[in-house]
Amino acid sequence: MTQYDTKYDVAIIGGGAAGLMCAIEAGKRGRSVVVIESGKSVAGKIRISGGGRCNFTNIHCRPSNFYSENNHFCKSALKRYGPQEFIRMVENHDIAYHEKTLGQLFCDNSANDIITMLVKECDWAGVKIKTNEMAENIKKSEVGYAFNISEEAIECASLVIASGGPSIPKMGATGFGYDVARDFKLKIVDPVPALVPLTFGEDFIFDFRDLAGVAVDVRVKCAKTAFDEALLFTHKGLSGPAILQISSYWRSGMDIIVNLAPNNNVFEELKAVKESSPKQEIHTALSAILPKRLAIYLCEHSKVWGPLADLSHKKIQSVADQVNAWQLKPNGTEGFATAEVTRGGVSTHELSSKTMESNRNPGLFFIGEVVDVTGHLGGFNFQWAWASGHAAGQYV
Ligand SMILES: Cc1cc2nc3c(=O)[nH]c(=O)nc-3n(C[C@H](O)[C@H](O)[C@H](O)COP(=O)(O)OP(=O)(O)OC[C@H]3O[C@@H](n4cnc5c(N)ncnc54)[C@H](O)[C@@H]3O)c2cc1C
Repeated sequence: MTQYDTKYDVAIIGGGAAGLMCAIEAGKRGRSVVVIESGKSVAGKIRISGGGRCNFTNIHCRPSNFYSENNHFCKSALKRYGPQEFIRMVENHDIAYHEKTLGQLFCDNSANDIITMLVKECDWAGVKIKTNEMAENIKKSEVGYAFNISEEAIECASLVIASGGPSIPKMGATGFGYDVARDFKLKIVDPVPALVPLTFGEDFIFDFRDLAGVAVDVRVKCAKTAFDEALLFTHKGLSGPAILQISSYWRSGMDIIVNLAPNNNVFEELKAVKESSPKQEIHTALSAILPKRLAIYLCEHSKVWGPLADLSHKKIQSVADQVNAWQLKPNGTEGFATAEVTRGGVSTHELSSKTMESNRNPGLFFIGEVVDVTGHLGGFNFQWAWASGHAAGQYV
């Protein structure tokens, strides 16, 4: 017997979105492929994604929906495998889907439809999947790379790291891929939680506890980036799509500016009500623009109360400013425990944007979330997983 029990053309560590897509493409090319997955079954994150319905892509996908130290890196892979390519696979499997909002495509029934499709495609492509297995002791070998799983020593010509990022550790997510990258001397862009609720100091939480559950459509801005989506007050701070989106751009110490009524010039509207209905209380007038609980809170917080006729323009302006340009300083995020993705990861300067192969370690590939490419909320992260998996699958 040789030093190794089994040889494959391609070994993929991680049976998530990116790893399975890569396996399918490599298998279709006639390569012998094994997927090593540490979980009991593959694709745990697909199963829980999109509230159980998997927002599997976004029809408006553009390179500007992704951030990275090198914003050009994602272009090549996305150009060769865009949303339409994945939609074609979904339709070939007769999976019912719908557009929810802003180009976001979800399964009608269940995220399991996507997993079943990927596993079936792997099967058709002759891919071997080994679950409940951790790859250990990864090293270079004569033909490429070698590693151990529980009772097997595996050698492969191409090794693909598709182990995701450390977000949601209770699902078994770890920084494994970064450790492999470091072992092979690749640079890592500091991984931090992204698409994550923002947290605030004790005073804020105390103040805003009564607003928990209130949702409002806002424009939230951090430095030069802005998003128009819903904001949700929670017991811990702020969440909802607008906050998750901006969290990926927020850095410690920065302020965010929230416009709670982006389609209203609140000062002008309150002035108009003052003229037409001078006896109307300011919080009542504001309740026509904002949820009532929030309107009352803002008036109390600004210490501006009573009939509009009794209020100076300066006082009305101070309330309007709270609505149209509310400035807040988060003290942190909820961290990897609830982050949907990880910003940062294996530096794109280390990889070929065409193949995802390490520039200094031929035969070693990194795909999906482990790479320093992070998508906006709305199906973009899966699209990156499909596109980067597909790109590597053509070359492994
Ligand atoms: C709650 C939640 C909801 C989300 N919803 C959406 C959504 O609707 N749309 C969207 O676009 N994105 C969504 N995302 C983000 C999306 O899930 C990720 O971007 C995507 O799963 C990344 O794919 P990946 O294959 O790179 O990594 P993963 O899907 O994380 O797959 C990595 C796999 O590798 C395995 N693994 C890890 N280490 C090892 C090891 N040492 N050995 C063997 N196997 C290992 C893991 O068990 C895992 O199965 C969501 C994320 C979360 C947490």
